[in-house]
Amino acid sequence: MFEEIYHKYDWEKIKKGIYGSTGEDFLRSLAKDTFTPDDIIPLFSPAADQYLEEMAAKSLTITRQRFGNTIQLYAPLYVSNVCSNSCVYCGFSRSNLIKRITLSPREVEDEARILYDRGFRHILLLTGEDRRAVTPSDLAKIARSIHGRFASVSIEVYPMETDEYRMMAESGIDGLTLYQETYHRETYANVHPAGKKRDISWRLNGPDRGGMAGFRKIGIGALLGLADWRIESFFTAVHAMHLSRTYWRSLIQISFPRLRNAPAGFTVPFPVDDRSLIHMICAMRIIFPDAGLVLSTREPSRIRDGLLPLGITMMSAGSSTGPGGYGHPGLAGDQFPVEDTRTPEEICSLIRSKGLDPVWKDWDRKFIE
Ligand code: SF4
Repeated sequence: MFEEIYHKYDWEKIKKGIYGSTGEDFLRSLAKDTFTPDDIIPLFSPAADQYLEEMAAKSLTITRQRFGNTIQLYAPLYVSNVCSNSCVYCGFSRSNLIKRITLSPREVEDEARILYDRGFRHILLLTGEDRRAVTPSDLAKIARSIHGRFASVSIEVYPMETDEYRMMAESGIDGLTLYQETYHRETYANVHPAGKKRDISWRLNGPDRGGMAGFRKIGIGALLGLADWRIESFFTAVHAMHLSRTYWRSLIQISFPRLRNAPAGFTVPFPVDDRSLIHMICAMRIIFPDAGLVLSTREPSRIRDGLLPLGITMMSAGSSTGPGGYGHPGLAGDQFPVEDTRTPEEICSLIRSKGLDPVWKDWDRKFIE
């Protein structure tokens, strides 16, 4: 389980290593094709900042070699915004007075139909983290009702037991996304003041439980802005190394959710600027040539346009971040504001304008049936 590996690394020591790396250390690491945790430390260092163009060039080359010219499109589908946690950075926190809704199975199907008609074949089902509002059985039923139409159905919900994840996989869900939010233990405790999410071990080992359950795709990430992005990147990469080695049949995906507009009363403690985000994405591509790198509509169009060729392989488009938001925009409280509000058609045009191919479907579960 990842928690054992996590405890081998001390945040402050890693920070010292990253901030103490030299340009020579960075160039030695950049020349490698495979990496140990020690090798990746210089890739996230301030000494690497001056080599961003070299990193971007290598990242671009690797991405085109491994993924061709394709960019996979997906859409989030929020089933519920009921949450029993109180993450200080999130619009769904139980302390926020927003309209709470849990869609009925019929309403989920309506939302799914809208996304299907817009062309999406990969969808991500999301809920707040309250397993009473949407139980694992509810999710399994929803998945069974819609997965026939979609090539891929993933979930981003509360962490589950391995057997529950198995039930998800058996009902047609093939992907799990579970962000750690932050790998900095004290920050984790401070930003998760109440609810089950306070249990950092439960979350750290969640992707392992998903791997044991046999998900085809496992997505992880840190919520950028909660702690120093350089050290978060190191821990995210070590987590991805562990998962890809242990669950080698699963495709590992790394997301880069950046805190931009936090709820009132919360100030982003470590804002991540655009250059740092590019640095992080390029370094991850260099370390993980085959990983899916995901960028959501949290990012404004200008950033998404610029990052598109550099290493990203999956993008959401035309997203709503509240339940029922496709059929009835504004029906309930959203999780976060969407910055890139362009339609899926506009995103496809953008992708083509960069010489890339938008892909609605690159997988069919019939491959394994
Ligand atoms: S981040 Fe997730 S667990 Fe935390 S308040 Fe938001 S929906 Fe709930």
